[in-house]
Amino acid sequence: MARKSKQKEAILRLVKGMTSHPTADCVYEEVRREIPNISLGTVYRNLRLLQQEGKILELDLAGTISRFDGNVQDHYHFRCEQCGRIFDVDRPVDREIDSLVSRKMGFKVSYHRLEFRGLCKDCQS
Ligand SMILES: [Zn+2]
Ligand SMILES: [Zn+2]
Repeated sequence: MARKSKQKEAILRLVKGMTSHPTADCVYEEVRREIPNISLGTVYRNLRLLQQEGKILELDLAGTISRFDGNVQDHYHFRCEQCGRIFDVDRPVDREIDSLVSRKMGFKVSYHRLEFRGLCKDCQS
């Protein structure tokens, strides 16, 4: 396999295997264990490519640096206000809201984003 696609495959595999919604820097730290001479720029470029190809998601969470998600199914997130960790919320996305808002406002809704905030289990104790 060519070096370039090998790097990309490694990055994809890592992001898919991480449930922590890593930043590019976190992905870089992980992938370096496997490919020590990889550059941060290469990691950024490949994350961008993978996102454009729909293989990973870039989370548009308010006011934070980009985080990436290997779970490309539409899903909600919970962000802990104390430790900053982001969790997937195990609840189906509510499509009703889209049509409700469409009907009420006369807009054509593509999707909605919802982020829950509070304290995770660890931070509650
Ligand atoms: Zn927490
Ligand atoms: Zn997620």
